[in-house]
Amino acid sequence: MGMKPSYAELVANMNDLWAPCLSQDWPNLPVDRAEGIHIVGQDGRRYLDFVSGFGACNVGHNHPRVVAAARAQMDRMVHAPLGMFAPETTLRLAHELGKVTPGKAEMFFFGNSGTEAVEGSLKLARYVTGRRAIIAFYGAFHGRSMGSATITTSKVKYRNRQGPFLPEVYFARFPYPYRSAASTLEACVKEALDDIDRLFEHVIDPQDVAAFILEPVQGEGGYVIAPQSWLKGLRELCDRHGILMIVDEVQSGFGRTGDWFASQTLGVEPDIVCIAKGIANGFPLGATAARRDLMQKWGATSHGTTYGGNPISCAAALAVLDVIREENLLENSRSQGTYMMKALRELQSESPIIGDVRGVGMMIGVEFIKPGTDKEPNTEASGRILKRALEAGMILYPCGHWSQTIRLIPPLTINREQVNQGLDIFRKAVLAEK
Ligand code: PLP
Repeated sequence: MGMKPSYAELVANMNDLWAPCLSQDWPNLPVDRAEGIHIVGQDGRRYLDFVSGFGACNVGHNHPRVVAAARAQMDRMVHAPLGMFAPETTLRLAHELGKVTPGKAEMFFFGNSGTEAVEGSLKLARYVTGRRAIIAFYGAFHGRSMGSATITTSKVKYRNRQGPFLPEVYFARFPYPYRSAASTLEACVKEALDDIDRLFEHVIDPQDVAAFILEPVQGEGGYVIAPQSWLKGLRELCDRHGILMIVDEVQSGFGRTGDWFASQTLGVEPDIVCIAKGIANGFPLGATAARRDLMQKWGATSHGTTYGGNPISCAAALAVLDVIREENLLENSRSQGTYMMKALRELQSESPIIGDVRGVGMMIGVEFIKPGTDKEPNTEASGRILKRALEAGMILYPCGHWSQTIRLIPPLTINREQVNQGLDIFRKAVLAEK
């Protein structure tokens, strides 16, 4: 290799350049550029993207308005650390974001990522309640820094050889109706709420609990949608015991479920909301949002950041808000999502390996099982389907404890023709399993 290696040479040496701890589930495609719902590989091949950069590019890759807004801010000022400066785009974003966040979560701590939004929420909850314990839920994914890894249980590989974790974190069952032994949704919800009662009776006094943290739709854990009655029960527990409800909307937020946030779709009012991904369409930005009365108790200097709330990312986020409104993307998320769900349910009737199709808006998961078994997860089929789809030019990504579920999360800008293209490739990839 010469002084300046070619891109192809760098790719060939990838394993000597990047830490091997990164996910090895996917081929790490060399990429050239992206536009809308397409990604163009270094080989010139155009891929239909049904992953949206892990759910970040909700308004489509390189949306021209988002790029232009970021570029304009870049010409003004790249970096202006909060606490020293008050950049206009960051302040303006706080003002605008409060209009769309769930409940009264109208004040913000800005970071750069999902995991930081989660860390902020845990610190805030402990600080303002003066209580020590956090209750998280099995199957959750909240990030990879030490606090968020502590409450992540979607796969044990995220935790292996990382401990000891944060103390005073407890876990309870997340209702997963498809995989519950309970025969009705009601019984499944009761089982999950009873689990919390058992914690309160035997393990931790509710008066010592600062917060519950949950994803309204578990993402990495398998696109499992929290039943509304469970959320209601949890809210009642919060109100009864003075416990805060933190919702991690890092993946489910920003139009993905057909509303600004899944909490609104599912009808629950959280106290603290973790936001990232879709907020800035790929620019690094995250936010911990909370009720004003809580935020105002968070003492000066008890948290902070160098890059968080970066003015370029915030300029991008302001454009994202405009694009979602002006292009009616919440409506598109609902209508294309409904159409996709119907088509996928039809496919399920033709394919014995599809155990479950579930979704809200355009946050859709298809769970694969081994036919003739008691819902045995079909990791192998899911892997082969991803590979076949990729060969046919479609980008997909798995989720779920056994990677047995495939998520379909294209940009919310997708039109019917592109949905049909994607569904057609997916259908062929699934039916090839027969
Ligand atoms: N929370 C949820 C629900 C997520 O899906 C993710 C990322 O996949 C995170 C937190 C962590 O976000 P980040 O990768 O930006 O740190």
